[in-house]
Amino acid sequence: MKSIAVLTSGGDAPGMNACVRAVTRTALVKGLKVFGIERGYSGLVYKEYRELQRQSVSNIIQRGGTILKSSRCDEWKTPQGRAKGAKFLKELGVDGLIGIGGDGTFRGLYFFSQEHDIPVIGIPGTIDNDIYGTDFTIGYDTALNIGVDAIDKIRDTADSHERLFVVEVMGRNSGFIALNVGIGGGAEEIIIPEKEETLEEVAERLFQGRKKGKSSSIIVVAEGDEEGKSFTIANKMKRISGMDYRIVVLGHIQRGGSPTAADRNLGSLLGAEAVFGLLNGKSNVMIGLVNNQIKFSSLEESWKKRKKVDMNLLKINQFLS
Ligand code: ADP
Repeated sequence: MKSIAVLTSGGDAPGMNACVRAVTRTALVKGLKVFGIERGYSGLVYKEYRELQRQSVSNIIQRGGTILKSSRCDEWKTPQGRAKGAKFLKELGVDGLIGIGGDGTFRGLYFFSQEHDIPVIGIPGTIDNDIYGTDFTIGYDTALNIGVDAIDKIRDTADSHERLFVVEVMGRNSGFIALNVGIGGGAEEIIIPEKEETLEEVAERLFQGRKKGKSSSIIVVAEGDEEGKSFTIANKMKRISGMDYRIVVLGHIQRGGSPTAADRNLGSLLGAEAVFGLLNGKSNVMIGLVNNQIKFSSLEESWKKRKKVDMNLLKINQFLS
């Protein structure tokens, strides 16, 4: 192996830069050339890239987002688009590709590796943490900390005005962020897509809390498929309970800012180990951290299987709140 390429794709996540840095520097130390592909799979289709040197990744470990940029690329979903990418990588002389992203990115890598003879490794980078095969994804810890910090601030005003606050956090189809932000922020209620419950039940518990002397309440809601879901929930709550409410949608604030130490370390570790993986002949795998150990698992499983949230935490929260 003489040369590798690295790209970031799909939703950006804090810690991706630490990962690009680790991939680059590890590969350079091992005597490989490194190409940074820009704007995810678009860069492969439209030949946007730069060669990365040690200094190209200086001073980025602390920066959110991704210096390589990211994009959604529909052409990559077609065999023709992927063939353009393979031709381009062959022209560059690249013999290994690392893709940092979420399950969409891994589908793209998987189909590419079925059709073309270039080894690929996926690194999980998404704030949602909803990837099977790793305990944590790059960006998740930062998103949790931003969420908890926001709740701390909201709690001050919720207390002062004795109000109900509905705080909507990100999380496509999954409640990892909501559940852990809710626990960490001491939320009274947490509503996640994995648990079906009626709003009457939630309202009843809030009523009981008020009877016991609670004057303010915070409900954390996972946006699920639809951003702004909290408006529907809050309206219904008002109809059921008559409680006045305010809504805060955290939205993209959760993706931004400097990555936490945990995300920088995870990005650095997975980036370096992914390069070793390619050098050791691994392909068509995702690298993850399971029980604090590096683990390679099938790329296909990363989206075909579903990682489960810990429902016990939800029960525990009812004791805590
Ligand atoms: P994420 O990687 O964060 O889940 P997306 O779902 O937007 O983000 O996927 C990122 C990119 O991966 C897409 O823009 C597309 O180029 C590629 N991709 C997603 N799904 C597929 C698929 N089924 N086949 C090939 N490429 C895909």
